[in-house]
Amino acid sequence: MTANNSISVASPVMATYTRFPVTILKGKGSYVWDDQENKLLDFTSGIATCNLGHVPEPVKEKLEKQLQNLWHCSNLYSIPNQEQLAALLTENSCGDQVFFCNSGAEANEAAIKLARRYANKVKGSGSAEIVTFQQSFHGRTLATLTATGQEKIQQGFSPLMPGFSYLPFNDSEALVQLHSIKPAAVLLELVQGEGGVIPANPDWVKELAQICKENNILLMVDEIQTGIGRTGTLFGYEQYSIEPDVISIAKGLGSGFPIGAIIAKEEAAKGFEPGSHGSTFGGNPLATAAGLATVTHILNSNLLDDVNEMSVYLDLQIQSLKEKYSLIKEIRGKGLLKGLVVETNALEIVQKAIENKLLILTAGPNVVRILPPLTVSKKEINEFIEKLELTFQSIKKGE
Ligand code: PLP
Repeated sequence: MTANNSISVASPVMATYTRFPVTILKGKGSYVWDDQENKLLDFTSGIATCNLGHVPEPVKEKLEKQLQNLWHCSNLYSIPNQEQLAALLTENSCGDQVFFCNSGAEANEAAIKLARRYANKVKGSGSAEIVTFQQSFHGRTLATLTATGQEKIQQGFSPLMPGFSYLPFNDSEALVQLHSIKPAAVLLELVQGEGGVIPANPDWVKELAQICKENNILLMVDEIQTGIGRTGTLFGYEQYSIEPDVISIAKGLGSGFPIGAIIAKEEAAKGFEPGSHGSTFGGNPLATAAGLATVTHILNSNLLDDVNEMSVYLDLQIQSLKEKYSLIKEIRGKGLLKGLVVETNALEIVQKAIENKLLILTAGPNVVRILPPLTVSKKEINEFIEKLELTFQSIKKGE
């Protein structure tokens, strides 16, 4: 960590990210240590990935065991960890079958392919169009950046994929357009994460789900950021009284080990058959060991209750800070995915927070995104508030 916030250094790594001046070498729980032996409070969780904190024991143990036996095995053969993880995910969701891949973008890519093939081969009528929403974020592959409702993500990549339409988020009147578009599927985030931590309105989601059901449109939820306990239930959709046809997950599923998946209802899963989709690494023994240990731990502990308790506590503490600092305009989010709408540049706050040994994120130009691990304690939340307050003070003083 360096005191100044200069960002670029010559590097053989391609400059697809503007990196902060921090080199993290070690992590445990809610903390990371940099190459100068600074201890930083990590309220990013690797962008909602290290949901059980850094290097969580149950996942570490399972991975260490799996490392002794088998690292990789082709999907041409049966993989017990994959079967068990798929069983766990379907027993604890409204879905019936799982396809495993390696990332969030790949999960959404699989969802898009499933919807198109379902429309073309199973339904055989209507269009194979996919409807998504403005400000959404669905990934960086060509299909998922096209699905993403943000021009800045798409710029320079034309020609984009055909077959996508975008509607305004949380807008009931716009839903009438579904009747003319007649899409194969609708893909949405229940809390738009990258787009500014904007929760979907429950009545709007219900209305959308109803239209999908009546018109044989697949309802697909992108739970890559909201899933795996982040919002206080295993999946965010559980809080919306809906049953999606397809759920895409990644990030928190492997506690940092790369893994993604879609969970589909039996009918939607008919879109794929042997040979129609695949992945060399998808669901390999190591990745599914991490997934199995992560999900088992969440289900067999009180973690989801803790998330809800800590979410309320964090809200209260941020609310007190908001009363002291007009810098905070609004607090929004769900569970331990929080967004602080600020009147200043959010990136400046994130950069200054590093000087106070706190890692946080932005979600657009004026939203600070807070993603503590689901294992966070009240003591760590208090420490976070202290560090954030110090950051606000230095911004106020113009330091
Ligand atoms: N969908 C959502 C909602 C996300 O937040 C992200 C990543 O931030 C993705 C998809 C893409 O996931 P990945 O970066 O693993 O490809």
